[in-house]
Amino acid sequence: MTPQQFHTAVLQWFDRHGRHDLPWQAHKTAYHTWVSEIMLQQTQVATVIPYFERFIERFPDVHSLAEAPQDEVLHLWTGLGYYARARNLHKAARIVADDFGGIFPDSVDGLEALPGIGRSTAGAILSISTGRRAAILDGNVKRVLARFYAVDGWPGAPAVMKELWQHAERNTPHARVGDYTQAMMDLGATLCTRGKPSCLLCPLQPHCEAFAQGRTGELPAPRPKKTLPVRQTLMLLIRNEDGEVLLQQRPPSGIWGGLWSLPEATDLRDAEGESGLALALDSARPLEPVRHTFSHFHLDITPVLVKLRDAGAVMEGTPRLWYNIRQPSSIGLAAPVKRLLECLPQA
Ligand code: SF4
Repeated sequence: MTPQQFHTAVLQWFDRHGRHDLPWQAHKTAYHTWVSEIMLQQTQVATVIPYFERFIERFPDVHSLAEAPQDEVLHLWTGLGYYARARNLHKAARIVADDFGGIFPDSVDGLEALPGIGRSTAGAILSISTGRRAAILDGNVKRVLARFYAVDGWPGAPAVMKELWQHAERNTPHARVGDYTQAMMDLGATLCTRGKPSCLLCPLQPHCEAFAQGRTGELPAPRPKKTLPVRQTLMLLIRNEDGEVLLQQRPPSGIWGGLWSLPEATDLRDAEGESGLALALDSARPLEPVRHTFSHFHLDITPVLVKLRDAGAVMEGTPRLWYNIRQPSSIGLAAPVKRLLECLPQA
């Protein structure tokens, strides 16, 4: 199948079966495309839609995002996960607003120089918002191409990635590039799905190597398995007389950077020293542990209900606040903390 036949088949399918009414397709500006592409990394379209709509309503352009406090940006991201995306989005907005007068760079290299934008995201922003020819290779497109050309090996491995980029570049058309970008993402998300691809409905099926070889179940090869280490932590659930819960802000970088979380300790005996709080340790009551999995480790969290010996002394040092679970304030919360707070009985 020539590149011309490949993109023609994909575009014809897109015209009849692609998604044309996603909220970020209403205004195909660099800003809207960029926000949607960052949200869509590691996240399904159906999950992203309400987040995107809330985000754009609050930050309709790059200037409003650049001027916002980071806490508000993280708050609107709460629940989407991978918070480094939100912090980078905010940083990049400030660069675009301050250094480029609010206009996004119009080249893949220029876009890639912004925080949080990789080659595929740069290609998507450029092709969709300007119609310039630029290839993409997100998770969906990797799957389609790895199957269509029966490319062995895990797509994250550099040699495999290089081969897939070559296929992606070659097949990208000179006209209707934005539609083609959207079409490839749609094809991967709706037909060439991870579990059971709908090959009989696929416009590429007559020439698809994985289909011909009966290998759609084994391609693309999964990431080589590694056992994730397990870390343990205690999260201290401290409430005041009004039932508010004590939260503290995480350092700006690292896990949950800049988000609000519960004070932590590795051991109840050392909890006072580690948290810097005067705790009534004989009141401590552990709750059911919960597991939160990051890409590189599992975190087993034991929530512990505990009281303070002296409620007046908690506000010094680390940024802290009393959080009202009945009237939650607009702050970014770490995902398991949000879940723990939702399960707490209202005082
Ligand atoms: S024929 Fe099947 S495996 Fe091949 S690209 Fe289409 S959906 Fe994917």
